[in-house]
Amino acid sequence: MPVRIPEYVQEILRRLEGAGYEAWCVGGAVRDALLGLEPGDWDVTTSAPPEAVLSLFAPHALPTGLRHGTVTVGGGHGVEVTTFRRDGDYLDNRHPDHVEFTGSLTEDLARRDFTVNAVAVNLRGETADPFGGQADLRAHVLRAVGEPEKRFQEDALRILRGLRFASRLGFAIAPDTAAAIRRCAPLLRHIAPERILVELTGILCGGHVLDVLLDYPDVLGVFMPEILPCVGFDQHSVYHCYDVWEHTARAVAAARPLPVLRYAMLFHDLGKPGTFVLDEEGRGHFYGHWRRSVPLAEAIMERLRFDNQSKKTILTLVERHDAPLNLSEKSVRRGLARYGEETLRLLVEVKRADNLAQAEPYRDRQQLISQWEDLLDVVLQSGECFSLRQLAVRGGDLTALGLRGPAVGEALNELLEQVIDEKLPNDRGILLEYVRSCIHKR
Ligand code: ATP
Ligand code: MG
Repeated sequence: MPVRIPEYVQEILRRLEGAGYEAWCVGGAVRDALLGLEPGDWDVTTSAPPEAVLSLFAPHALPTGLRHGTVTVGGGHGVEVTTFRRDGDYLDNRHPDHVEFTGSLTEDLARRDFTVNAVAVNLRGETADPFGGQADLRAHVLRAVGEPEKRFQEDALRILRGLRFASRLGFAIAPDTAAAIRRCAPLLRHIAPERILVELTGILCGGHVLDVLLDYPDVLGVFMPEILPCVGFDQHSVYHCYDVWEHTARAVAAARPLPVLRYAMLFHDLGKPGTFVLDEEGRGHFYGHWRRSVPLAEAIMERLRFDNQSKKTILTLVERHDAPLNLSEKSVRRGLARYGEETLRLLVEVKRADNLAQAEPYRDRQQLISQWEDLLDVVLQSGECFSLRQLAVRGGDLTALGLRGPAVGEALNELLEQVIDEKLPNDRGILLEYVRSCIHKR
């Protein structure tokens, strides 16, 4: 597939060449374009020193990473233009202690992580590919540039970048690269949690996540040891034809690639090994395993610095993933009152994915899940009351009756519960009368 370079990037290449420098597109955009995928951000590598790039593109150039030779050019699109460089020694398994600029494109490509990310293309469509990246792209192979073990020791984040590319592209990891990934995995302990989280999210949301989860639990277990007891754990259950980890991996892959959903599936059964019991007939049970999954999931999310909103949603989904679905409007209204529509709809997806990862004969649960979702639509469309916003009584009504402070909120919630449970109609007169009688009784 020829690489079609967008006009705004061509403009940058032309100006650099016009000033007598070499200029090439490189990295993920070239890789994706060669694969016929929609390229993301374009990166340019050039023999021009950073100061020359800054002055050539002033005032539309920002020194975003001068120490590493990176200047961001352009307004809306923001192309990263980086000077050919050679990395110094790596002292902390992540950052080179210094970088040196070089006149050699090949040296610049040699510092890059994988061969498929080390192909360069210029204005005339010529390619520079000293490490066989195009052949690897054709063969769907992910291979480290140079000596794999050394490259992962230099920067351990490359391990997770590799798994992310494998998950996204569906490429096989070359055997010596895969072996080095496993050997170097303990070095991930030196990587900042925020970095790990970004890559892990990418891994989980890839279209080929199943293979990565099945092949590399030991790598992920370096920073999530909570998953390790699940690997190979036999469920002794007719519902399950897979061990806990394979079920988990299949459940992740069966969910829509939305981070909160994929994380909820990754965490949902973490509590299973710790709650396993065998009954007299030799059947396995995991009573209340979700209760045990919640703190394990929470510990992982704390360590990896999840944002509070995602953490809250994911914990609700983990906690409720196994809760029975009661086909009554009352139960739907209760769910809406407690969790809101958005989370309930995610919970429906969690239940679907969980079931799709169970043994084939038990897939008829999908029907029950769909019926419950239909009921959710009915309740939402009917305008029935399931939140304080729809309650026929407001806080002001209660202060008029003499309630003050926290008593107002408590009374509103009590009224909402009565209405949801159909013990009282959502009628202002009747609700106020009820409050009056309660005040009287006190
Ligand atoms: P994405 O599609 O996620 O943007 P990408 O390959 O473009 O993937 P970037 O982080 O944008 O990744 O980096 C651009 C290029 O810089 C990579 O293709 C690779 O050549 C090089 N690179 C990035 N990070 C590293 C690293 N940690 N070690 C070596 N080379 C790297
Ligand atoms: Mg990129």
